[in-house]
Amino acid sequence: MARPLTAEIDLDALRHNYRLACECSPESRCVAVLKADAYGHGAVACARALEGLAPAFAVACIEEAVTLREAGIATPIVLLEGIFSADELHRVDELGLWMAVHSDWQLDALLAHRPARPIPVWLKVDSGMHRLGFPPERAEAAWRRLQAAPDHACDLQLMSHFATADLVEGAYFEAQMARLTALAERLDASLCLANSPATLARPSAHGAWNRPGVMLYGSDPLEAANAASRRLAPVMTLRSAIIAVRELPAGEPVGYGGRWVTPRPSRIGVVAAGYGDGYDRHAVDGTPVLVEGRRTRIAGKVSMDMLTVDLTDLPEADIGSEVVLWGRAATGEVLSVDEVAHHCDTISYTLLTGVLPRVPRRYH
Ligand code: PLP
Repeated sequence: MARPLTAEIDLDALRHNYRLACECSPESRCVAVLKADAYGHGAVACARALEGLAPAFAVACIEEAVTLREAGIATPIVLLEGIFSADELHRVDELGLWMAVHSDWQLDALLAHRPARPIPVWLKVDSGMHRLGFPPERAEAAWRRLQAAPDHACDLQLMSHFATADLVEGAYFEAQMARLTALAERLDASLCLANSPATLARPSAHGAWNRPGVMLYGSDPLEAANAASRRLAPVMTLRSAIIAVRELPAGEPVGYGGRWVTPRPSRIGVVAAGYGDGYDRHAVDGTPVLVEGRRTRIAGKVSMDMLTVDLTDLPEADIGSEVVLWGRAATGEVLSVDEVAHHCDTISYTLLTGVLPRVPRRYH
């Protein structure tokens, strides 16, 4: 029998979440962000599931776009960070990609290149994230250069990224919006601003295009859930099983370091998943798991290939019992990846992208 650990990907849930993103912002078109192998879900399978539904996909780099094109994906693909060197421009041409332009050197390279046909360009503005993009006071000149080169660039969009759209407190988000609105008015530009939290909760940021990522995979990025985010459906279920059971008296240490000690006579279940599969070693004692759809918790340190859970209150659980580390149990019970991330002092993005290749993906 194979090691009982799979990442099951529910493509109907992916489509449901995509439609929800569109419903949140009916006047916008939604690019489905498929970077980082679709946040660990498998970019090709997710792209195939969304083809015909999403008018464009977004990836981080040419290599990710090549993977999609080689799999026969014909939908437009935008490179969210553009090119990393001038000689990548011929690939942009060949593959028919769209690209973000965030720096003068990229703009110079684009204008020095003779593309077979004009390239749709999203000009990235640094409205406050202070990572990539033209500062607002320099964005106008960059925009005008692009406008003056219709053989090189077409379908210009003003693009920016929010640092705090997920927070309840909105002052910094509003400051970014104010800079963008002023710039867009001066340039009469159409906008592509909204990530998942802004798609879900910041209608003022909805533009001609939105760019939701993590919400497509069923994770709620908002600090405080809202009516829309409560309708997200989990896409990935990380499913394993109990492979051994230990009966221990009170006072026995479990796992590396012996830091967790049985507080009472305990039944400990050993689960076939560990940090060698991408399950976060920072999962503290008490991190929830579902055993046959019932909640219990991790007891002791996560090992490379195994972790241990407390079965003391689940006497019916035994070898072979289903363990869901996040996602939906066979009973229908859901454990959100966001809740697990909270116990690991991280975010869902790292858990989802961190599931390693040795975990087989199963699509349905
Ligand atoms: N747009 C850009 C430029 C990004 O870097 C990302 C993700 O990091 C997204 C959109 C999607 O963000 P989210 O997954 O929070 O929706």
